[in-house]
Amino acid sequence: MEYLAAQKQKDAWENKPCDHPHLEKEYYVGCYLINFVCTQCGKEFTIAEKLEMDLILKKKRRSFS
Ligand SMILES: [Zn+2]
Repeated sequence: MEYLAAQKQKDAWENKPCDHPHLEKEYYVGCYLINFVCTQCGKEFTIAEKLEMDLILKKKRRSFS
């Protein structure tokens, strides 16, 4: 997701609750940044935070199945 698009998305979302269903790598003028961004609310995540969320999601999925 493009950096400026993410910022717009963040403004539009207005800090509503979001469970961040889909994270994408963030890029700016064709260059990837090191962050990930939620396509729904525009919140930025570091790689460490994304890995942590992946683990939490995996755990959740395991406990539901
Ligand atoms: Zn989100």
